[in-house]
Amino acid sequence: MKFSRFLWAIAGSALVCAGAAHAGGVKSDENSEYKPTGKGWGELADSPNVNGHARASRPNSGANGISYHGGPLLNSANGTNVYYIWYGNWAGNTATTILTDLATGIGGSGYFNINTTYSDGAGKKVTNAVHLLGNVDDNYSQGTALSDAQIQSVVSSAISSGRLPKDTNAVYFVLTSADVNATSGFCTQYCGWHTHGTIGGSDIKYSFVGNPNRCPSACAAQTTSPNGNAGADGMASIIAHELEEAVTDPDLNAWYDTRGQENADKCAWTFGTTTTLPSGAKYNMSLGGRNFLIQQNWVNASGGFCAKSY
Ligand SMILES: [Zn+2]
Repeated sequence: MKFSRFLWAIAGSALVCAGAAHAGGVKSDENSEYKPTGKGWGELADSPNVNGHARASRPNSGANGISYHGGPLLNSANGTNVYYIWYGNWAGNTATTILTDLATGIGGSGYFNINTTYSDGAGKKVTNAVHLLGNVDDNYSQGTALSDAQIQSVVSSAISSGRLPKDTNAVYFVLTSADVNATSGFCTQYCGWHTHGTIGGSDIKYSFVGNPNRCPSACAAQTTSPNGNAGADGMASIIAHELEEAVTDPDLNAWYDTRGQENADKCAWTFGTTTTLPSGAKYNMSLGGRNFLIQQNWVNASGGFCAKSY
């Protein structure tokens, strides 16, 4: 996920969601194939051959506008596990309850059911179930300006210390308070991202999601929000985006399109029909007993389309 509506308007590029500083200057052409970075933009993949016949090796664009590249999915029959690592200072912040309600309410929803339109090479679909299995605090163990490597260290230390289990069927979310920056581009290049890494000898999937209160114009859809906490409500939309990408493209080699966009990237910052509360806050779905304004996801059926439910 990335990109504010503000940056989006400036970028105005053919690469929706593309980071100008990252993929800028690299134009898509019919012999180029992009792979996802997990940060919402694509990078040129290594040329599949040197004879100028890359087009023949290019994966089919897919009847639904997104295609499968052979890698694993998080498609356990029991669903996907989630762990939250609350990094920084979250004392007295209602985000901890709002985002817990999100994680416990998203599984089984019509929204998460969109991911069941994705399957692996054996035809095994994603299951519409999500289990929040753990929450831990991290009191600034890596300071307030985190590199990508330090974000992985936050995850690895939570696991190696035994505070969280080592779970390959899970997404670990590093949720940072508003005083914390992610130096590879939080607020300017992205609002969150997901990736994977080898931790304790296992392939662990994890995600960074920062608090949009640090940059509301870039990473929050609205400053008056349905749960009275614009930062937390902004994070809910970003967490949902990263979770559905991590489920369908956990190792960045499964489902994405020819521009390197994963499922949620194709619908980033679109919300469908919304309802306005008396406060002025908008919402488009209810999960875990709360109203949320959460970006849509790409349905891998019927030609492909953005939706908030399937
Ligand atoms: Zn994304």
